[in-house]
Amino acid sequence: MKTLKAILFWLLSWTWGLPMTLVGAVCALALLVTGHKPHRFHYFVYFEVGKDWGGFEAGCFFFCNNSASLSIKRHECGHGIQNIIFGPLMPFVVSIPSAIRYWYREIVVRTGRKRYSDLKPYDSVWFEGWATSLGNKYYL
Ligand SMILES: [Zn+2]
Repeated sequence: MKTLKAILFWLLSWTWGLPMTLVGAVCALALLVTGHKPHRFHYFVYFEVGKDWGGFEAGCFFFCNNSASLSIKRHECGHGIQNIIFGPLMPFVVSIPSAIRYWYREIVVRTGRKRYSDLKPYDSVWFEGWATSLGNKYYL
């Protein structure tokens, strides 16, 4: 069953979910060329880069800070499931809004206008909360 799920996930990621998987493949290639080591988490390939910034998911790949917590990895994998559901709509429904929201929050905090504690919880928006619950359900 586990193998079947992995095959189905990869098949869907490289067909219906191809746009984000290609983004991930390009990032993965750039990291491989610059000497970063790929890791495996369940059936995802991931890379660790930099410090304390969180993660970014693209198809069957994800990218996260060094020594990322299990909760970050699970959350990114939750976005991987969203990608095989939304397919070519994923960039518009989840990935781009998520990136804009992430940077908006960072800028507001870094410019001293608000503190993280003043902001709504990260998972308060549907696509982040759903990614976390999918990740916690499927990637123990
Ligand atoms: Zn997210």
